[in-house]
Amino acid sequence: MKIVVLDGYTLNPGDISWQELERLGELTVYDRTPEEKILERLQDAEIVFVNKVPLTKETLSQAPALKFIGVLATGYNIVDAAAAKELGILVANIPTYGTTAVAQFVFALLLEICHHVGEHSEEVKKGAWTNNIDWCFWNHPLIELAGKTMGIIGFGRIGQQTAQIAQALGMKIVAYDEYPNHALETDTLKYATLDELLGVSDVISLHCPLFESTKGIINHHTIAKMKDGVIIINTSRGPLIVEEDLRDALNLGKVYAAAVDVVSTEPIKANNPLLDAKNCIITPHIAWAPTESRTRLMDIAVNNLKAFLDGAPVNIVNP
Ligand code: NAD
Repeated sequence: MKIVVLDGYTLNPGDISWQELERLGELTVYDRTPEEKILERLQDAEIVFVNKVPLTKETLSQAPALKFIGVLATGYNIVDAAAAKELGILVANIPTYGTTAVAQFVFALLLEICHHVGEHSEEVKKGAWTNNIDWCFWNHPLIELAGKTMGIIGFGRIGQQTAQIAQALGMKIVAYDEYPNHALETDTLKYATLDELLGVSDVISLHCPLFESTKGIINHHTIAKMKDGVIIINTSRGPLIVEEDLRDALNLGKVYAAAVDVVSTEPIKANNPLLDAKNCIITPHIAWAPTESRTRLMDIAVNNLKAFLDGAPVNIVNP
């Protein structure tokens, strides 16, 4: 059985192992696959693993041997899952590998905005403290989170884990989700409508998937409903934000700061509007990537394939 990994490098740049997958068939791992090579590499493949290589209806209809697509990520918007279903191809994703890593990263971003740790350390090493007239200094307003409200848009696994950490810091939580689970509500955690969330949140963190209904959910109109000086964090998907609108709001000070791990086009384009925006931190889609998290991802990918081969598929997104 021919197994092809089209873009394995980001999952495994060499520090974890493909061995378990090798045991299941004749494995070929490509670090990257340019668009013009996709079809050639899919020929005869019964199993394909992809991370960010797009598998469109047109491509899938020209890969007759294909039976199973393992997406090496949680978000599976790169695969036309409906077309795959029509063609009898099952698509599995990795629902939970990165929950703790992504939620932790939300706070790497948020605490950077609150304290600018890296920048203050650099200033100290450049002599700014040595030459300072007072016994301490800071170059940015320092922000305490306790007592502030975090609005979480998309209250699934990562949203809930983010809420736990935020509550440990003394924050109150307002959650918006298409399918609220009111059993999760407490004195400090309440569901709200999107408009209510926008109006009361000091920090807004995005954790909903990218769907037609969520595309551009942060835009000129929704930003206008937010508190002045709000902080926005996006570790979900870039197109959730209309980047030009966020840039304008940052430059005007309506949004105090933003931190995004994901942008509209990845890798980021040189003309991305957020690159020149005021108070905007951009990281290169790394929230998912601690070694622990990637090892878990690999284990689940292997288990997804084993379950499919055993006739009891799991984590299927197009049943
Ligand atoms: P999840 O499915 O557990 O949670 C998503 C939640 O969003 C669900 O509760 C769902 O009901 C809700 N939702 C769906 N449509 C909505 C809408 N229109 N409005 C509001 N809420 C809506 O997923 P998760 O594991 O929490 O992951 C969330 C997202 O995080 C993924 O879709 C992915 O895009 C992103 N992610 C990013 C990274 C990274 O490295 N930056 C890593 C993993 C996942």
